[in-house]
Amino acid sequence: MTNRPQVLRTVAALRRAMTPYRKAGRGIALVPTMGALHAGHLKLVAEARKRARRVVVSIFVNPTQFAPTEDFGSYPRTFDADMKALTALKVDAVWAPTVAEMYPEGFATRVAPEGAALAGLEDKFRPHFFGGVATVVSKLFTQVQPDFALFGQKDYQQLRVVTQMAKDLDLPLKVIGIPTVREKDGLALSSRNVYLSQAERAVAPTLHRVLKTSAQRIKRGEPIEMVMEEGASDIRHAGFTLDYLEARHALSLKPVASVKDGPIRLLVAAKIGKTRLIDNLAV
Ligand code: AMP
Repeated sequence: MTNRPQVLRTVAALRRAMTPYRKAGRGIALVPTMGALHAGHLKLVAEARKRARRVVVSIFVNPTQFAPTEDFGSYPRTFDADMKALTALKVDAVWAPTVAEMYPEGFATRVAPEGAALAGLEDKFRPHFFGGVATVVSKLFTQVQPDFALFGQKDYQQLRVVTQMAKDLDLPLKVIGIPTVREKDGLALSSRNVYLSQAERAVAPTLHRVLKTSAQRIKRGEPIEMVMEEGASDIRHAGFTLDYLEARHALSLKPVASVKDGPIRLLVAAKIGKTRLIDNLAV
């Protein structure tokens, strides 16, 4: 029988649990999540398992990265199913603090990332987001003190921001980005896909399809601006409200004019009905 991971609810309990992990050597890997786990999250866990002796998954729906108008209250919470999946993957510990444990009364510090966090992509549409992410992720890193932290390329700007933050703050861990896990039709797995109606689900793969054809066209040498304009039009015609479709430098996330400015990453965010989806692809 497989052992259930130990569930840790307080910083004190987490510290006690991590001490023997650290002594045992060969590393601790952390996979930060907001729960509602799907095959994308589980891929990160499987990759963590390959790299470290101990795997810790955090499950925390972080209120500070949601605006008041966003879905913090209704965000899917599926703790029992998550525990079942993590047990099957032989995860050692689940760090699942309450909001009061993470942000006790009087909490008054924020990590404010710049650089890629101000690229005019997610930050433009969710200005609260990266401050919330950087603050909670730096707390998770300090709490767990992992040797590795695994993040999905699905949230590409977030991966860039967290990688830079770990470097800038001299945090002694390696941030590892894992390729996006997709449905057969190309739709990137996301906890928010459960919000999609059947009709919305049917058009949702448009985002990946446009990214793929745009990347091929840019690689062939077609002008980036034209390819992005036509891609944006395809996405709108499919029924989305487009926030952005952009070609950016894959590391700095600065705008690029041609493949010579490369490596290029295409990034998209769009709303279908009430659901906001994001995706990205390398050129
Ligand atoms: P979330 O629970 O949505 O905050 O995501 C937790 C982690 O899982 C983040 O590092 C995400 O980038 C990653 N993730 C989410 N969806 C996918 C996916 N489809 N493939 C790979 N990683 C993902």
